[in-house]
Amino acid sequence: MAKPAGSVTFVGAGPGAADCITVRGARCLERADVVLHDALTDPALRLWAPKALWVHVGKRGYRDSTVQTEINALMIKHALAGARVVRLKGGDPSVFGRLEEELQALRAAGIDTEVVPGVTAALAAAAATQRPLTRRGSGRSVSFATAVTESGALNPGRHADTEVFYMAGARLHELSRRLQAAGWPADTPVQVVSRALWPDQIASDHALSDLAAASVLHGGRPAVVTVGVGAAPVAANSLPVERHQPSVPSPEP
Ligand code: SAH
Repeated sequence: MAKPAGSVTFVGAGPGAADCITVRGARCLERADVVLHDALTDPALRLWAPKALWVHVGKRGYRDSTVQTEINALMIKHALAGARVVRLKGGDPSVFGRLEEELQALRAAGIDTEVVPGVTAALAAAAATQRPLTRRGSGRSVSFATAVTESGALNPGRHADTEVFYMAGARLHELSRRLQAAGWPADTPVQVVSRALWPDQIASDHALSDLAAASVLHGGRPAVVTVGVGAAPVAANSLPVERHQPSVPSPEP
């Protein structure tokens, strides 16, 4: 009898506590035989798949291509053996998650794949601190950016009303300097949120020119840096309350 075909489902675990995963993602875990997970995923997620084989495949560094090759090989090995593999990633698999490389490897091996989205860190930070990323009239675009290029250079620009930088926590001084050089005013609101939606989350507010002050507070913790309109706190009564106007005039008495 032919072996059942295995598959790999990429599941976004969300940025923090285990209950941030989507219901669909949790259902995939329940059906999994093997779970290959990153360092930033909550161990409490194991409760969804207590019988599955859990393998930690966290990456150690940006250019660690050996680790990536090993992860690809592991996914392929288990899927070819007929396992339902879940590749569990922090946040959303499509955002700075090396999804392209992993999909390419699986395509080349002829393995079925599926992607289940998760809450990416930028959205977690916005929700945790109640800072809407878009604002009517003033905040029409949002970019998710990594400040660091493959060569390690810091190369931020000014592309949207609100820019959320991932993986910039260790380079805040340089980020501040380069963003100002790219045209952001020194008093632009900036918010840094580390470990968003975990119980030990920290959030701090800065002017762009003082961003370096956040380094001590957030240390080496995973953090996103939100720059621009979407970083500003929501002021009480900043807009006049509009009275509801019926769109259809009431009939004359
Ligand atoms: N796929 C993930 C991002 C992985 S890259 C996602 O969609 O969120 C890793 C970077 O994500 C970290 O350097 C940090 O910038 C950010 N990050 C991940 N979890 C975070 C959290 N809980 N709070 C703040 N930033 C986080």
